[in-house]
Amino acid sequence: MSIKIEKIDHIGIAVKNLEERLALWETILGARAVKIEELPERGVKLAHLKFPQSPTVELVSPLDEQTAVAKFLAERGEGIHHFCFEVENIEGAFEELKKKGVQFVQDRPYQGAGGSRIVFIHPRSLGGVLIELKEDWPKK
Ligand code: ZN
Repeated sequence: MSIKIEKIDHIGIAVKNLEERLALWETILGARAVKIEELPERGVKLAHLKFPQSPTVELVSPLDEQTAVAKFLAERGEGIHHFCFEVENIEGAFEELKKKGVQFVQDRPYQGAGGSRIVFIHPRSLGGVLIELKEDWPKK
């Protein structure tokens, strides 16, 4: 079996101040946030922006200084943070990539935003790019 990527689900952009940057995206690109949510267990606040025939843009800001996003902002500043690929079977993809020696940020896939299952491939395994894998859960 091989990993099956369905599509780019969203692009994550790290921002320091979510409301400020959201206003910028609304003013400049006519974006509209379809959902804003706080995920205290992950230490982030998210704004999901929809555009026609495009992956969602996810603005990500840290809720505190200890989170990975806060560290990313301190090291690299604001900008593109990660791409998320939707996969058919996240557990299968995870096991298979692990066998190939791919490193992940988490120990296993876990509950993500909006009832999905997600896991992040460590940038160290992909030339400095953070990739999120996601499976919609429960299935639509
Ligand atoms: Zn994401």
